[in-house]
Amino acid sequence: MATERGAGTATLWIGGLLAAVAWLIAGLGVAVPYRPTVRVLPELLAVLALALGLRFPRSRLVVASLLVAITSLLLRGPLTTGTEQQVALGIALLGVLVPLDLALIGLASDQRLASWKALGQLVFLAMQLPLGVALVAIAGRGSGAAAQALSLLRVRQTAWAVLLVAGLVVGLGYLVRRTSFDAALLWVLALASRAISAQEATAAPAVLLTAAQLVLLVAFVEDAYRLAYHDELTGLPGKRALNEGLRRLREKYTVAMIDIDRFKRFNDRHGHDAGDQVLRMVAQEIARVGAGGRAYRYGGEEFAVLFPGTAPEAALTALDIVRETIARRLFVLRGPDRPKNKPDRPLRGRPQGPKVAITVSIGLAGPSAKRTTPREVLKAADRALYRAKRDGRNRVVATLR
Ligand code: GH3
Ligand code: MG
Ligand code: MG
Repeated sequence: MATERGAGTATLWIGGLLAAVAWLIAGLGVAVPYRPTVRVLPELLAVLALALGLRFPRSRLVVASLLVAITSLLLRGPLTTGTEQQVALGIALLGVLVPLDLALIGLASDQRLASWKALGQLVFLAMQLPLGVALVAIAGRGSGAAAQALSLLRVRQTAWAVLLVAGLVVGLGYLVRRTSFDAALLWVLALASRAISAQEATAAPAVLLTAAQLVLLVAFVEDAYRLAYHDELTGLPGKRALNEGLRRLREKYTVAMIDIDRFKRFNDRHGHDAGDQVLRMVAQEIARVGAGGRAYRYGGEEFAVLFPGTAPEAALTALDIVRETIARRLFVLRGPDRPKNKPDRPLRGRPQGPKVAITVSIGLAGPSAKRTTPREVLKAADRALYRAKRDGRNRVVATLR
């Protein structure tokens, strides 16, 4: 969806930067005096993620972070002590389990931490630790069926196949959902896999896993930013973002206010849910405005568009195209038995919902001798909108002087 553009991209970029730095440091190795501190960083950061998870409904963050911390612990603990064969097996096991777990986390949904589902996610994760250790111990003892099955894990191709499958699942998850957390999982997968095959003695795994933890926290921050700055219903930036956008306007610009016509009547006739659908569709059209315009949801059924560097005349042309597109488009309402999202193809054999026409009124203004601040310009645009309503709606009115 056009209005969802950009979700998770900060995490993708910053995550890449963190991964590159970690890769470099891991390659160089950590100086001996710093190693004990570096080795506990992944665990310390997991405590931070846990604290965030207790406060906000972000169970996937907590589960992924704990997985990274457990991996860090295992790499210098139970799975890597024993005979050479046991250690190799332990590492191979980890190399298969961790990517699979990350893929599962990619498929799961976020829960409150104090919920059965979140508890299920955590128990599932915690169970693998004793299970893994037990398996390795059994395999180390004899040459039974378990040992044979486990020796498969040590085949290089197994690890690569698992990594490929996990990468596909997590990558598709990101493409479909476009959340910052899904973007973070991609880097966590790469970093954790590299950590598992890195030299523990140089503290390289801890460096890579610390980066993985940081990427998860970056995703949390980006997510919080989105929540604060974006309107959930339409996906457009909200009022807070508009206020910042207004502050950035300089010299030549245009501000427009858009209001859906007779929307109260629409809600009364078709219900609030249908009204929400219309709001989303109208937002989509407004977001496509040309002339460098950036759309915001002002509140309710009102939208604002800022045109930095664009004169009112050019903005007016672009806005009139939007107005006409909306007026011409018939909105097909999906009833309660219909899918929430627009189907890719029309569903055959199902009656189409009612089609309704929607119009919007638009007012716009630019700075002048009388109006020097963006706030005053916005007020003038609002007055122009009022005139558009009074003059019969479904029109664009500009306050040019
Ligand atoms: P006008 O042409 O003069 O703008 O008439 P109007 O009915 O659109 O104006 P009014 O401001 O009286 O009504 C706005 C309505 O918009 C009231 C409310 O029911 C509806 N509305 C505001 N926010 C939402 C929302 O988030 N979802 C839905 N479904 N309706 C909303
Ligand atoms: Mg209104
Ligand atoms: Mg209205």
